[in-house]
Amino acid sequence: MVVGEMPEGVDLLVVGGGPGGYVAAIAAAQLGRNVVLVDADGEDGLGGICVRVGCIPSKALIELASHVHSQSAWHGRGGPAGAGTVDLVKFQDWKRDVVGGLNGGVRGLLKRAGVDVRRGWFRFTRPDQGALVTDPDRPPTHLQFKSCIIATGSRPVELEHLPFDGVRIVSSTETLELSELPKSVAVVGGGYIGLELGTALAKLGSAVTIVEALDTLLPTMDAKIGTLIAEHVKELGVEVLTNAKVTGDTGTHLQVDGSNGPVELDVELVVVAVGRVPNTDDLGLEALDVAPGPDGRLRVGTDLLVTPRVAAIGDIAPGPSLAHKASAEGHVAAAVLSGHSELFDPATIAAVVFSDPEVAQAGLTAVGAEEAGHPAARATFPISASGRARTMGESTGFVEYVYDQSTGVVLGATVVGPHASELIAEAALAIEMAAHLDDLAGTIHAHPTMAEIHHEAALVALGRPLHIPGPKRRGSDGGAA
Ligand code: NAD
Repeated sequence: MVVGEMPEGVDLLVVGGGPGGYVAAIAAAQLGRNVVLVDADGEDGLGGICVRVGCIPSKALIELASHVHSQSAWHGRGGPAGAGTVDLVKFQDWKRDVVGGLNGGVRGLLKRAGVDVRRGWFRFTRPDQGALVTDPDRPPTHLQFKSCIIATGSRPVELEHLPFDGVRIVSSTETLELSELPKSVAVVGGGYIGLELGTALAKLGSAVTIVEALDTLLPTMDAKIGTLIAEHVKELGVEVLTNAKVTGDTGTHLQVDGSNGPVELDVELVVVAVGRVPNTDDLGLEALDVAPGPDGRLRVGTDLLVTPRVAAIGDIAPGPSLAHKASAEGHVAAAVLSGHSELFDPATIAAVVFSDPEVAQAGLTAVGAEEAGHPAARATFPISASGRARTMGESTGFVEYVYDQSTGVVLGATVVGPHASELIAEAALAIEMAAHLDDLAGTIHAHPTMAEIHHEAALVALGRPLHIPGPKRRGSDGGAA
């Protein structure tokens, strides 16, 4: 700061307008703080990557793809013939309305909460709560904040030998903006984004190849999930190359070193989805004497504090890069910096992959439960035994509950199947409330619904399965009754 330049005092400063930042700003305003929110894109940035080029646009595309795809399946069940041609220009117009509506909604919420939203690039400048906001159209603003919440999110990882060019080699952002369906696509990375986009494009009619470096799709999850998903996407016409690494691109052919040697994929578009990198490299953190870890994230404890006056939330903090985790942290950070003794210590953060079938997980896996010292057991109920699933023409997937054998307390759940993204909410609530298997088994679930799978899985765990065969009942003489 130039000598004599007066900084503007700010009570609570939020950096980033995504699901972490805007929720933190509203929570802080509700706690009586005067809040300024700075985003590089100002009001246009509200909702963040999630609303503008992430969760929301991708779910819109997935929804379109599912409708197109289900037309042919339903033709065989009495539905009308032919899905017609996909009009991605029209889709993009509609999607812009959806995104614009949600962005406008966040603007309205922040306005009503009295949050002052500004455009500019934020950097810390001094250890004593000094910061600078720069914008090409305005003189720089020096700020002196009492509290600050940084929620600057993440960006796609770029592969050194496959740099993004925005046309042929693209990230999820450009893929979600397509106004013409590519005939052929290679998706590099078989994780969350690769699988969601690859499946959607295949259902819309592109010839899709997923190239995954490890030996299964969704490698962070139980191997049986990756195997099941791989089988299902193959039925949709997707080619899956595992243990395969991209080595380069000729401009027309993607070069891949696969498990059977090198191959060249003749594709129109290459979508790179190999992870995301936290936006912590241009924040002036050195002024705070703080350095991110090797993964680019800031180390925070359950109070989310980086320094006594600065909190970090969302993709720049430890834990899964999920919008709902960022929002939950936003509430805690606002409270902690406002003198309340809150902690970010959730029993579970549900995670969903909007693949086909959908995959959702909450709480501990069986391995995780054992590692945490629980005598863990699993109970599984197949989707094929759900009457409601059959009316939807669905039979792939399962629900699996992990529970403590000695207490019967629910520890974790995985749902693979139709509406898994919605179904996981009941399991997450059960885990958060430390529900017992009896609570799930004793709750009368409406019939016919997919939610009955929770009740059924609990009955399996309790040794009295209903709609799948159980142990033979034994008579009083020890023989089968
Ligand atoms: P990811 O970590 O889920 O998957 C990346 C995949 O790329 C991994 O399977 C990895 O093995 C593979 N990979 C890495 N380098 C490779 C290479 N050189 N060649 C081939 N494969 C390679 O990352 P993502 O899919 O980019 O998503 C980023 C984050 O965004 C996720 O961790 C997730 O938390 C979040 N996200 C969430 C949702 C959701 O909630 N539904 C959707 C999309 C993204």
